[in-house]
Amino acid sequence: MRNLTNYHSHCSFCDGHADPEVFVLEAIRQNFSSYGFSSHAPLPFSTHWSLKMDDLNNYVETILALKKKYESQIELYLGLEIDYLTDSHNPSADLFQNLPLDYRIGSVHLVEDAFGELADLDVKADLFKEKIATRFDNDLRRTVIAYFDKLMRMLDAGGFDIIGHADKISMNASACDPSVVSQNWYLAKIKEYFSLIAEKQVIMEINTKAYPDKGFFFPNLNHFDLIRQLGIRVQVNSDAHYPEKINDGRDAALDSLKSAGIKEVWELHKGVWTPVAIR
Ligand SMILES: [Zn+2]
Ligand SMILES: [Zn+2]
Repeated sequence: MRNLTNYHSHCSFCDGHADPEVFVLEAIRQNFSSYGFSSHAPLPFSTHWSLKMDDLNNYVETILALKKKYESQIELYLGLEIDYLTDSHNPSADLFQNLPLDYRIGSVHLVEDAFGELADLDVKADLFKEKIATRFDNDLRRTVIAYFDKLMRMLDAGGFDIIGHADKISMNASACDPSVVSQNWYLAKIKEYFSLIAEKQVIMEINTKAYPDKGFFFPNLNHFDLIRQLGIRVQVNSDAHYPEKINDGRDAALDSLKSAGIKEVWELHKGVWTPVAIR
């Protein structure tokens, strides 16, 4: 059994493709020691991917009931993946702090475009390219910096345990221009941003969602050495939307962490974040 935990997952309450109990049964089947649900938190407008405000209580009660039902077989946890939208709608807001959550993931998916409208940048590469051209003055560098600056505002506001897919924009930015992620300004921004993650002592997930198809971890493998140097806390999450994908990429990520000299991952044990040696 190899650090079989996952804290970033979706289910039918948001854009996941099965009922939460189906994910639980699969996690038990694969001998996971703990499994956490992190549906996309409600936003102040409707999307096809986030939990509806009216379903929030039902989500909380459903996961808490599963936690009890399966407590002799697996440690289940209740979380949310919360967008940093503005200085009032973000993980630190009372709405999310007052819920009985075991943990919170802070993520950025939406960035203000040149017209002040929110643009979803977590989209397929072709659509991303089109948005950069039509909504961001065709300025990839400025868009990438705006994305990381927003994540840094989220870190300053706090109120979350895990930073979600820390550099997800790297995949779409690389599709526009493969050289972007090795340019000096990009690497300097990553260093500034990762230094703040280390300072705030939040856990950085190694998100494996795109690994099987695209070969990308978020954060990128190129930064694992920096993560070690800065002493950032890490864990491996699959960001699964399908039960059969809950363990995708885990072994590769754990091997890569080990190769980079990172020796432990942070797991929940009886509700407490605990460093555990990578096996
Ligand atoms: Zn996300
Ligand atoms: Zn997610």
